Amino acid sequence: MPRIGIGGIIHETNTFSKIPVTLKHFLEPDGFYPEMRQGDEIFKFGLGKYNFATSGFLADAPAYGFEMASLMWCGAEPSAPASQETFETLLGILIDTLKKNLPLDGLFLDLHGAMVYGDLQDGQTEILRQVRKIVGQIPLVASLDLHGNVDPESFDLATALIGYRTYPHVDGFENGLRCAALMAHLVNGGKCFRAFRQSPFLMPSTTQPTTRDPAQAVYKYVEELEAKEGVLSVTMMEGFPPCDLPHTGPSIFAYAETQDLAEETANRLLDFILEREDQFSTDLLPCDQAVAKAIQLAAQSDKPVLMADIQDNAGGGSPSDSTWLLEKLVKQGAKKAAIGLIHDPEAAARAFAAGEGAVIELSVGGHALRGHTPYTASYKVIKVHDGEFTGTGPMVKDRQLNLGKMAHLLVDDVHVVVSTVRMQALDQSQFRVVGIDPEKMGIMALKSANHYRAHFGPISSAIINVEAPSAIIEDPSKIPYTRLRAGVRLKGLGPEFHCPH
Ligand SMILES: [Zn+2]
Repeated sequence: MPRIGIGGIIHETNTFSKIPVTLKHFLEPDGFYPEMRQGDEIFKFGLGKYNFATSGFLADAPAYGFEMASLMWCGAEPSAPASQETFETLLGILIDTLKKNLPLDGLFLDLHGAMVYGDLQDGQTEILRQVRKIVGQIPLVASLDLHGNVDPESFDLATALIGYRTYPHVDGFENGLRCAALMAHLVNGGKCFRAFRQSPFLMPSTTQPTTRDPAQAVYKYVEELEAKEGVLSVTMMEGFPPCDLPHTGPSIFAYAETQDLAEETANRLLDFILEREDQFSTDLLPCDQAVAKAIQLAAQSDKPVLMADIQDNAGGGSPSDSTWLLEKLVKQGAKKAAIGLIHDPEAAARAFAAGEGAVIELSVGGHALRGHTPYTASYKVIKVHDGEFTGTGPMVKDRQLNLGKMAHLLVDDVHVVVSTVRMQALDQSQFRVVGIDPEKMGIMALKSANHYRAHFGPISSAIINVEAPSAIIEDPSKIPYTRLRAGVRLKGLGPEFHCPH
């Protein structure tokens, strides 16, 4: 019976963000992620069909006859880089649990692919270096989020890397199944040759959703390539642009039973995206124009118009507390509009203290960005909630969320949801618990880049991508990179990067 270790450290790092991440964020529940787990606690992921690769891997482990050895698993909401000390503490725990569980026949790791720590060092590469030293040449398979910026060294260190294929990410569980299947092939002595390619252009976040083209066609092609005899696994990483490292950007992995087939598969996928490069460009509307358009469209439909405040997305490491969009919605007289989640612990606490029905003068949001100010007004406290509830949409279904004190505030006809814990707006439950039925609203303004599409997309009449300043810059040609590799195009058919120094 092959003995397989399972663990992981998950963080998506925006190197331009000022939002800190500390050890506490990894130890305790943090937005999308549950608390750090060790020992039998990791096996709890196997009790249901949760949207994590660890859950999928555990689900199929018995069918492959794996004896699972539990290491350490943790994750934290995207932010600025973790400190060297925080990273080393986490990796130290992973390594200790690994040493206690030797010998192993295989190791599965649940990683992100865009983790950066300390003085701009690549987290995945360091994790893979350290664990490789300990386990030697056993099969080492890692699951990655499709936003991984993959360093060629980490590709070499892992026996296989397998990325998500959906954005919104609704295939965490399925990715675990893919990893378990390839692990079974490897521990049974199956051949695995590999090929790696970097895309010569970056993909802006708004071009990445797999629910529409161009990305939808790309991932359909990934499945086609993978169905071919002798091909073991194909991954298209879309990359995470707000990260100032040489290897930032999309990459391709192909694994096959011969080297020729791996190379040919990787080349075909690279050609496929190059043929569509012109489609990987940005389409954002300035805040005031976006609100005017939303008001106009909302008047023509019974279903809500979605406004995606994509640059203030907690899920990309932004503060999720900017108020440009809130201010414009109020000023332009938007009706039946809701905006959330605005991260503001103090506003939530004051609303709690005042109680439902109270009208209070509040300064909401606007605390985190330099030069930005809160939106101060009289708000009516419509509903407060302790922030503990169960997710209902595809991203967080059946998972317990804890956003701390939450409040539903009303200013004119704009409903504002504030939370104590920072989290991307990606599930209708985040609004429903404070008494907002998204289906009955005219405009839903969501601080999210794409994940909102999974649950809010089906109930909407239109989607508008908003350009309001925050810690994410959607158009990579406007990001102040200094360390990207020379010559990479900053978006589809965009300008090439060359170091400004
Ligand atoms: Zn992602």
